[in-house]
Amino acid sequence: MQQELRERPKGGSLFLSFRGGMQTLTNALATAIAGRVNIVHGEATAVTRNGDSWQVRIGNESLSARDLVLCCPAHVNAKLLESSAQPIADELAGIPYSSAILVMAVYDRASLGHPLDGFGFLVPRGERKTLAAATWVNTKWPVRTPPNLAAIRGFIVGRRAVELASATEEEILTLVREDLRSFMGVTAQPLFHTFYRWPSSMPQYVVGHGARVKNIFQHLANYPGLFLAGNSYDGVGIPDCLRHARHTAQHICARSI
Ligand SMILES: Cc1cc2nc3c(=O)[nH]c(=O)nc-3n(C[C@H](O)[C@H](O)[C@H](O)COP(=O)(O)OP(=O)(O)OC[C@H]3O[C@@H](n4cnc5c(N)ncnc54)[C@H](O)[C@@H]3O)c2cc1C
Repeated sequence: MQQELRERPKGGSLFLSFRGGMQTLTNALATAIAGRVNIVHGEATAVTRNGDSWQVRIGNESLSARDLVLCCPAHVNAKLLESSAQPIADELAGIPYSSAILVMAVYDRASLGHPLDGFGFLVPRGERKTLAAATWVNTKWPVRTPPNLAAIRGFIVGRRAVELASATEEEILTLVREDLRSFMGVTAQPLFHTFYRWPSSMPQYVVGHGARVKNIFQHLANYPGLFLAGNSYDGVGIPDCLRHARHTAQHICARSI
């Protein structure tokens, strides 16, 4: 990971990511703590307070800790805290989320009929049919696409993603291709495509979000050892999440001294 940062070419893409995708980051974190931290895979179903410690229910197991950092989406944290920190749960439940659908269409570059002379496009709300945006992967992350292929990643977000929640992959691909035809003039048949649904994945910082977050963090002061981190509070980008996580870790370390 460090090496990838050092190798960033001068004058290269404006965007920064990992060659192997974002999981590189979480894999590196898991490797860094291996042997010192017990990683349990499972769905947390409840959080309760017992004296000075917090209990997390995962399947038939119950994990106990003095400090607990909840990093699930706000609507999940709300359910987990329903019985143990209701004022916080109520505020968390009020943070709305939007959904997204990602479709990557991969073409034979020679038959694409478009120069990919940019990073992609954004579609203004008033002109949107299906796609809200599309990334031209070849120019945004050149190492991810061999020169003979062209990869276009389409984003469907908000109300349209909800409307298409039960549509089939083929139906959605047809709509995406219709948009690519109208915005880029691309009529070629993709060689293959990938498809990912991200339901309720993006917190929406609606009017009043700042006040709500302030309330949440004020309430947290009444629940020693309970912490919240992740994208629901103070920025949705990965750098925001890292900053908030570091701040939370420093807080916990300060409590331990
Ligand atoms: C389609 C899309 C594209 C994006 N593109 C970018 C980008 O280009 N750049 C950027 O900076 N940011 C981007 N973001 C935003 C960024 O990815 C997120 O804000 C960030 O990943 C949020 O991290 P998080 O840890 O808060 O939440 P998440 O990554 O959502 O992690 C929450 C975790 O909680 C787990 N979980 C949920 N419920 C439970 C439960 N009951 N028990 C146990 N675990 C549970 C989930 O499985 C998940 O692993 C994008 C987001 C989306 C959806």
